[in-house]
Amino acid sequence: MVDDTDLFSSLDPQGADWDRLRATGHRLLDMMFDNLQNLREQPVWQPLPDDMRAGFRNAPVPDQGMDADAFGEVFRETVLPYSVGNRHPGFMGWVHGGGTPVGMLAELLAAGLNANLGGRDHAPVEVERMVIRWAATLMGFPETASGLFVTGSSIANFIAVIVASRAAENGLSLRENGMRDRSLVGYAARSAHGCVSRAFDLAGLGSDALRLVPLDDSFRMDTTALKEMIAADRQAGLEPFLVVGTAGTVDVGAIDPLEAIAGIAAEEGVWFHVDGAFGAMAALSPRFKEALSGLEKADSLAFDFHKWAQVPYDAGCVIVRDSTKHAAAFAQTLSYLSREDRGLAAGAPWFCDLGPDLSRGFRALKVWATLSVYGTQRLGQMVDNCCAVARHLADRVAAEPTLDLMAPVTLDIVCFRLRDPALTDEQLDHLNGEVVKDVQESGLAAPSTTRINGRLVIRAAIVNHRTMVADVDRMVDAVLCFAAKRRSGLPA
Ligand SMILES: *Cc1c(COP(=O)(O)O)cnc(C)c1O
Repeated sequence: MVDDTDLFSSLDPQGADWDRLRATGHRLLDMMFDNLQNLREQPVWQPLPDDMRAGFRNAPVPDQGMDADAFGEVFRETVLPYSVGNRHPGFMGWVHGGGTPVGMLAELLAAGLNANLGGRDHAPVEVERMVIRWAATLMGFPETASGLFVTGSSIANFIAVIVASRAAENGLSLRENGMRDRSLVGYAARSAHGCVSRAFDLAGLGSDALRLVPLDDSFRMDTTALKEMIAADRQAGLEPFLVVGTAGTVDVGAIDPLEAIAGIAAEEGVWFHVDGAFGAMAALSPRFKEALSGLEKADSLAFDFHKWAQVPYDAGCVIVRDSTKHAAAFAQTLSYLSREDRGLAAGAPWFCDLGPDLSRGFRALKVWATLSVYGTQRLGQMVDNCCAVARHLADRVAAEPTLDLMAPVTLDIVCFRLRDPALTDEQLDHLNGEVVKDVQESGLAAPSTTRINGRLVIRAAIVNHRTMVADVDRMVDAVLCFAAKRRSGLPA
């Protein structure tokens, strides 16, 4: 017989240690508030010093514990100053949301609750269902649509590809039999995010089964080409099952002609999926409703709350119009997961029936908090503001004699390039790429690069609610200054 007094006494503090840990918690919370309040005084990004990098790489597994306060100090010194920089108003690289202090608090609450949202009957799953219903409503889907939170749009797109392939004619047999001799093919514009092709790869369809449709002059899917490609594939005995339209392409922020694609998908009897990773959030602004028209006709939609909606990472979302088809693609009946009419194991269907994860955290809480505290109107104004800042940047670029605007600005992404008649295209690629690194290392701003029609361009995505006109002007000034230094052979 053992007695509890002989045993280890749980990982919780004992007695007065609760007060010490509570004080540590308050200090850490204040540290993060101070840090967020003073973002502008910090560099956008700075590289991790070599000794700290070596510290991480050589640190042994800790066998003895340390004080939580001391651990907070390690975080403050080695992590806090050397993060990605996406919270900073000068961050314009890739497509990263800025996060909010409210989202931070919600993460704390979610971690304190430590809920598992794979299933069962409790308030957190109702919160996720509510937020999914809100998301469906915002995007013009019926309230009966199903959906779930996942890490990001990469997995949301993957889930949609799985659902679409299972929903294809005779699809159910795919789950037991695999592809056998079926040859399902799908379509997306050349500008589609790389995760769509990877979704085809992961789904076992093969990345070649995703046909890349050419673009029109405005960097949108050429729907005449789409129709021809579908016809040619049918002729060759293949089975077209899916068309993916993008709302907000990752390189230039274009919106594929969603109405036209919806029409073609309906005529052809194929699934219509939209990758709206960041662009779907433009639906928060009445100004962009028109531009997104057709999105509400999709069979499924992938998008992120962690990009333009400013929810802290990670918070991706997939919505499927037909809840039956969604569940049919993932549900399993395993006895240890059996559903009851009452008690904790009631409340089917569970979220584990709608995606590959069984254990799942409470991502929905930070989305609920963000939507509740800011409201969709204010978030819509934020979206408008980002686009206005992007238009200002485009005007500034157009007015600079040494810069070229490289693509029309539909939403919040501006692509531009340093010009110099004395340099070849290749030399200009090199110059633009080096100047972007100079600017990033200066800590003044963080644009990134992409390629348009084969040429390397500087790309600024205004996805952070903190980025204002003065911030993009500072970025352009930095680009011009480093370019001038490089041209005159001075060290950057
Ligand atoms: C960011 C992005 C993705 C990938 O989303 P993650 O949340 O990073 O997984 C997919 N498509 C588009 C258009 C994107 O901008």
